[in-house]
Amino acid sequence: MNSIEALVRPNIRTLSPYSTARDEAKGTPDIFLDANESPYPGLLGYNRYPDPRQKVLKARVSALKGLPTENIFLGNGSDEAIDLVYRIFCTPGRDNALAIEPSYGMYSVAADINDVELRPVPLGAGFSLPVEEIFAKADDRTKLLFLCSPNNPSGNAFEPSQILELVRRFPGIVVLDEAYADFSARGSLRAAVLEQPNLVVLQTFSKAYGMAGLRVGLAFASAYIIDLMNRVKYPYNLSQATQELALKALETTPEANIREIVFQRERLFKALSSFSFVRKVYPSDANFLLVKVDKADDLYEVLLQGGIIVRNRSRVPGCSGCLRITVGTPAENDRLLQILQSYA
Ligand code: PMP
Repeated sequence: MNSIEALVRPNIRTLSPYSTARDEAKGTPDIFLDANESPYPGLLGYNRYPDPRQKVLKARVSALKGLPTENIFLGNGSDEAIDLVYRIFCTPGRDNALAIEPSYGMYSVAADINDVELRPVPLGAGFSLPVEEIFAKADDRTKLLFLCSPNNPSGNAFEPSQILELVRRFPGIVVLDEAYADFSARGSLRAAVLEQPNLVVLQTFSKAYGMAGLRVGLAFASAYIIDLMNRVKYPYNLSQATQELALKALETTPEANIREIVFQRERLFKALSSFSFVRKVYPSDANFLLVKVDKADDLYEVLLQGGIIVRNRSRVPGCSGCLRITVGTPAENDRLLQILQSYA
């Protein structure tokens, strides 16, 4: 058994996955009496189960992302992939995981759901990567480390060479969440999964690609880990409608929208920094800004009264006094600044 196999839960290592009749059949049948579906297409034409391996969509994603399909998992949002790595690697009540703090809340919720101890590792000064603290908190039951770059909610991306050094030294699986990488000049480390057997990179079509309502998340990893994810996932985790609509959406590229969002981010960064009640706007490589203000709860309410909802992060460790504001359209950002102007 190699060192990655040894990290996998024993019951998952030996799992026989659910197999559909269509997986097992050979030839090219054209009458499908195997899956107890309705033979009638109805109004929408979704009477048949979707392709459990999402072959057509995955081939498109493979071309887009420059990695073989055997290194790609598609999930019901990247939230599905977060839950799956816990289920694959962590024995409930026994193993533990590490995550930088502050970071995306689902790492800890998914840990709780799976009865896995999550050990937060506070980011260093300026939201820097706490490399030595990570190793100090790991023990022989630590299976996972969650990193997020650019990080939610701090907005900063970490140095790629620092992340890769961590991946090389860490004795468990490193899950690098790149949900916001499309907005960052630092780009993606997904190609590193071909060399690093303990690296899982997460991305999503929910942010830059504008498909949050469709629920399509991506994971990149070694063929061995991707095979485990495919075995453990629900067989039909992406609906037929999702697969078709995602394919259609990928006929256009998000580049122009990304450029506009990055432009608006820099505009908001400057404008927000000028208000007297703003103590700090943190530099961002993502599509949001973390803003430290004098009275976060008060300002949150004022914005809500004005019809704008932002994320109040002021009770999150390391973010006291902070609101997280997503970059909107130019008109939405104008409204935000108008309200702030009259609040000042
Ligand atoms: N990772 C991060 C860092 C996020 O902020 C989010 C969503 N807010 C997700 C993952 C989940 O994205 P998805 O819509 O793909 O489930």
